[in-house]
Amino acid sequence: MGSSIESHLKKKLEDLDEAGLLRKLTLPKSGGPDPETAQFSSNDYLGLAHAPFLQEAAIAAIEKYGTGAGASRLLRGTLPPHEELEAAISLWKRAEASLVFTSGYAAALGTISAAVGKNDVVLLDKLCHASLIDGARLSGALIRVFPHNNMRKLGALLEWASHTRPDARVLVLTESVFSMDGDCSPLAEIVQLKEKYGAWLMLDEAHAVGVIGEQGRGLAHALNLSGRIEIQLGTLSKALGGCGGYVCGSKPLIDWLVNKSRSFVYSTAPSPASAAVSLAAIQWLSSNQASERRANLWKNIKHFGSLIGSLRKMHIEPESAIIPIRANSTETANHWSSCLQEQGIFVPAIRYPTVAKGTERLRVTLSSNHSQQQITRLCDALAQLSALLPTA
Ligand SMILES: *Cc1c(COP(=O)(O)O)cnc(C)c1O
Repeated sequence: MGSSIESHLKKKLEDLDEAGLLRKLTLPKSGGPDPETAQFSSNDYLGLAHAPFLQEAAIAAIEKYGTGAGASRLLRGTLPPHEELEAAISLWKRAEASLVFTSGYAAALGTISAAVGKNDVVLLDKLCHASLIDGARLSGALIRVFPHNNMRKLGALLEWASHTRPDARVLVLTESVFSMDGDCSPLAEIVQLKEKYGAWLMLDEAHAVGVIGEQGRGLAHALNLSGRIEIQLGTLSKALGGCGGYVCGSKPLIDWLVNKSRSFVYSTAPSPASAAVSLAAIQWLSSNQASERRANLWKNIKHFGSLIGSLRKMHIEPESAIIPIRANSTETANHWSSCLQEQGIFVPAIRYPTVAKGTERLRVTLSSNHSQQQITRLCDALAQLSALLPTA
């Protein structure tokens, strides 16, 4: 009691600042994409966020339907672009049905909390994204965390749940590509395990969409496992260059979410422009241009992998467009990031609580738009920082 909210929060912000953990919002110098700096921080893997054809789709939708949907989907907020987008996602993902949310975060929160409840069990990978953790917490289910990609431990937890909670539904949560580490989950093994125990699987494809598999359908499709995964989640906000999230799966799953997913029911529908942009982006994924962009992205990923590999004298084969450079302390990560920025290269420092203490890092994300020269320049700058020396 006693202190005002202002002084209370001011003190807490000062503490964060002292620990090197204060986060601030900054604009690029020009207020838009800055040609002078090379950005290695965006999840716009296919360079779609400024694509003229998506801008045109947005403008056409605004002219036809206005700027706002005006209400939640159930209260007349549903417009043709929403239905067309959901149909396009189902077709692209080869799923029975799909549902669109205003963000991937909202999709995760609303889906997990509607799918399971307080008598159920959620098993989640230690490195799962905050949206999955928050959705699991909101559901009220008993949560158990397994070490990252540790199949022995996942098996043991499934075994444990089947004994101690025989009547519970068990939902396993994992990601195709982990957002801060860039590695993939051993999906085939996870599917086998969850089937052995009759558990369900929800897979977050946020960083695999557009990047992995034919037509960028993601890891589940690339491994021919789609039909065996109960819930697939993805975002429209990363490689697809727009904004929003989706869930796809069986018709009963989607019908249930329409009734019970609170972030869907109690939130205004995505704007018509937003839905139209995502629709155009999903349709574009089957074009030759999309295949070329994806091929170029992978060329860039391999180029970066081989450069850092030769500097580290080891074989490095990145599994996605996300490549972490471990600094292992807040100070080093902040220092590296600001040295790079002085040279016109933007790579964000990822700190606690986004990653565990002691695993602070630079997070490099590559795009099809990067030139090989930009990537070489980044590697040269990293080498000067000794960021690429083998870590003890
Ligand atoms: C970004 C992200 C989300 C959230 O998607 P948004 O559309 O940005 O809200 C969910 N899961 C993972 C793994 C992500 O990286």
